[in-house]
Amino acid sequence: MKPELRLVPHPVGLNAEFYAHCAAGELRFQRCGACGAWRHPPRYRCAACGSGEWSWERSSGRGRVFSWTVTHRAVDPAYEDELPYAVVVVELDEGPRLVGNLRGGLTPAELRLELPVEVEFEPVADGIALTHFRPSRA
Ligand SMILES: [Zn+2]
Repeated sequence: MKPELRLVPHPVGLNAEFYAHCAAGELRFQRCGACGAWRHPPRYRCAACGSGEWSWERSSGRGRVFSWTVTHRAVDPAYEDELPYAVVVVELDEGPRLVGNLRGGLTPAELRLELPVEVEFEPVADGIALTHFRPSRA
């Protein structure tokens, strides 16, 4: 019998806050209170200006495919049924790049650079939702 154990993040600190927003159905990134720069992954200081002031700002969840990789052989048997699958790096309209699985019926062979996509969430545990991307509907 195939194990149903898939890896689930166990984030702490700022990363836990990021995943909690996703679990609430909102994609939010930190935005610098001094210079307005968006950032991800979460951190305490702005890489652009060094400020420690920031807030969680809501992203449109829309962006374009920046890069991807296709997995043809499951390292973890829990993912065998999804082969081949693509993991995409998406540059959101606000600037940050985010990694997620490709969803929405698109096959890895149909991927292309700059493809418009939007985020969707998969709740996997209390306070944790994973981010996936599907072709944009607009
Ligand atoms: Zn800044």
